Amino acid sequence: MTANGMSPFEAVNHFFRRAAELEQLSDDAIDVMCGTYREIQAQIAVPRDDGSMLVTNGYRVQHNGARGPYKGGIRYHPDADLDEVRALASLMTWKTALVDIPFGGAKGGVQVDASELSQKELERVTRRYTDQIGLVIGPTRDIPAPDMNTNAQTMSWIVDQYGRKNGHTTQIVTGKPVELGGSWGREEATGRGVIITMDEAVKELGYTDPSEVRVAIQGFGNVGSWAARIAVDHGYRVVAISDVNGGVHRDAGIDIDKAVHHVKETGSVIELPGTEPVDNDDLIELDVEALIPAALGEVITMDNVDRIQADLIIEAANHPVTPLADDTLKDRGCLVVPDILANAGGVIVSYYEWVQNNQEIRWEHADVNHRLEKKLRESYRQCRDFQHDHEDDHLSFREAAFALAVDRVVRVAELRGYL
Ligand code: NAD
Repeated sequence: MTANGMSPFEAVNHFFRRAAELEQLSDDAIDVMCGTYREIQAQIAVPRDDGSMLVTNGYRVQHNGARGPYKGGIRYHPDADLDEVRALASLMTWKTALVDIPFGGAKGGVQVDASELSQKELERVTRRYTDQIGLVIGPTRDIPAPDMNTNAQTMSWIVDQYGRKNGHTTQIVTGKPVELGGSWGREEATGRGVIITMDEAVKELGYTDPSEVRVAIQGFGNVGSWAARIAVDHGYRVVAISDVNGGVHRDAGIDIDKAVHHVKETGSVIELPGTEPVDNDDLIELDVEALIPAALGEVITMDNVDRIQADLIIEAANHPVTPLADDTLKDRGCLVVPDILANAGGVIVSYYEWVQNNQEIRWEHADVNHRLEKKLRESYRQCRDFQHDHEDDHLSFREAAFALAVDRVVRVAELRGYL
């Protein structure tokens, strides 16, 4: 349960139900989409380096496959339980539909604290997890990718382990290293997409000069650090960044290259020379124009929403705003670019990676970036058009995005005879 009384899956379904109402879906269709197609909960038991056993749970949830093979990342986190993985899987269904790529929605998780495991232990966990979900994944069935605390190395182990039983199958996962069939541009794709959608939102809000937009970013992993780098490239002033250990603030703007170097040297953004410390709770409430949550879910709740000063929130993380807090932001006129659009850059380039693997070719980096940018700007415009076309319903940008996505999934489900 969250502080606002809904579990993560209930919260995503809350957004879905609003869309379902607008789309006048039948009760049967709502029942189907509020559940999941298939769920695996598997024991992951592997030896630790000291000879003891690590025993934990791994999950793979396939939410909806009407539009194509299931697609979604794998998260290693102590809080990755079945409900959270269901929520993230369903978000993938709506995300892939919204940006119109031919995939369904899935997600995986292993309940571990990756920071406490050695590389060898992480490798054993990954190989065991791959065996446990091996029966339901496949290059035309379900294609995993990285998420929190997993990366291109994790994907390499999956390619290897899956290949032992099934023959070499590069396209079993996306987010691979370029040397092993990865796509140029995949590593930074989610962060790049976050900033592409921010560009669109900033234009709408009437800013003419990006340096007027002060940006605070929570989380400095794959998504947050790339979003920060690309934000600076686009002329924004990134004034605060953070990670699990805390954050740093500098109103004149943080030198992000220095921050990346500092993280490489010390393992954290804290104590970056020339900055003031700020904790993760205070970062969310800073006096900035734009806020980018890029770490965990449910960081904007009824407990802090009234203190949020940003007029623009770009949801780089999945599900960072609880439903009640979202209503408050809507009433206040805060523009929230929802996760299913803002962080879709990763799955879009994952799709491009899968296409390249299937064709056994490699596109140039600039080509991948160009396609990503075009796709996201077009998706943004389609959401905005949908919102304007339903003016009388007074939809928020999120509500419009969900309704458009639900519409697309239902249409295909009907065509295939599922509904
Ligand atoms: P990551 O593991 O690379 O980085 C996570 C970052 O969050 C790290 O800096 C970590 O220190 C920080 N963090 C962890 N707990 C925190 C806390 N309690 N407070 C503040 N910071 C904390 O993960 P990532 O791949 O960058 O994913 C970040 C978010 O983006 C997640 O919500 C994920 O679901 C979402 N996302 C990722 C991708 C992708 O392609 N990697 C795609 C779509 C969405």
